[in-house]
Amino acid sequence: MSSTVTEYPFETAPTWQELLDAGAARLSEAGVSEAGLDAWYLLSDSFSIDRVHFLMDRNRTVHPGTLEKGWAVFAERIERRASRVPLQQILGCQEFMGLSFQINDQVLIPRQDTETLVEEILKDCQDRNIEILDMCTGSGCIGLSLAVLGRYRSVSAADISEGALKVALKNARSLFMIQKNVIRSQSKKVSETPWRMELSVWTGEEQKGCNGVSLLGNRPGTGHPLEVEERRFTLFQSDLFSEDDGRLYDVIASNPPYIPSAVVDDLEPEVRDHEPRLALDGLEDGLHFYRQLAEECRKHLRPGGRIYFEIGHDQGTAVTGILEEKGYRNIQVIKDAPGLDRVVKAETAKD
Ligand code: GLN
Repeated sequence: MSSTVTEYPFETAPTWQELLDAGAARLSEAGVSEAGLDAWYLLSDSFSIDRVHFLMDRNRTVHPGTLEKGWAVFAERIERRASRVPLQQILGCQEFMGLSFQINDQVLIPRQDTETLVEEILKDCQDRNIEILDMCTGSGCIGLSLAVLGRYRSVSAADISEGALKVALKNARSLFMIQKNVIRSQSKKVSETPWRMELSVWTGEEQKGCNGVSLLGNRPGTGHPLEVEERRFTLFQSDLFSEDDGRLYDVIASNPPYIPSAVVDDLEPEVRDHEPRLALDGLEDGLHFYRQLAEECRKHLRPGGRIYFEIGHDQGTAVTGILEEKGYRNIQVIKDAPGLDRVVKAETAKD
């Protein structure tokens, strides 16, 4: 096929399979590694066709009306992907911990590696009545997964980037404010500069009376179902702890920028040219933010508080050393699903 799909390249009406093949060929020519898969996602989204219907109809010609509606969108997206814009930025979302996160070029695309960190906290912290901070939250994927799946009483999430906080706020509105059994939700801007926003939800199981009639609103004085739980999600702009309000946390999680500056330039074009450098670049040796966090976190944790940091696969020993030097205890390196070092966790002294 020609070097661009924006012009209409078919002489006769194409089948669904031919449409897909045309997209895949263009992507593979541009050096995209999962060309076939990416073309499929773009086709599916542009034409609103699912896998089952595609498989049933793959050798049928696409209805002219359908083709006319979907072609321009599909072709334009294939071209963007061919220029190495990440698939997730084109589709505007990425799944993480089974939740759908909206993303754009202001935030790091949530990685499967980072699920290891969230899973570790969910496993270790069974007490929901704790206070958690996600430092360098980006899209909000760590903090919001913990708030939604772990149902912790209070989760805060900080980032230096206002663009990132806007994305995290959208995600908080679509994931935190709209959970199961929400009775009431509220969001308020606590301050403009520094930007701070507090979201609260009250959830509760609706209690049914013995005749099946809802007791909602029937409880004297409250108007609420019987078991009401209040949880909070706070988002704030901060250069690490510069704008923290001085509260103490039980857990601080972070996926800070950790790629050495020189290595950032060698990353795939999708990452290097389209994801925010601010979220990737860990300065000289990639360890800058671990040194800062190791020093700062201990001042912001309760005695016996815990830290969970995502790390690069070759940074386990170095980050362990940094934490040892600052007096952290029970330092452990956790591996991700492919078996690489991915998370370091540790505790502060209990006294
Ligand atoms: N894991 C990310 C990558 O490989 C980097 C994440 C980070 O720097 N925090 O691109």
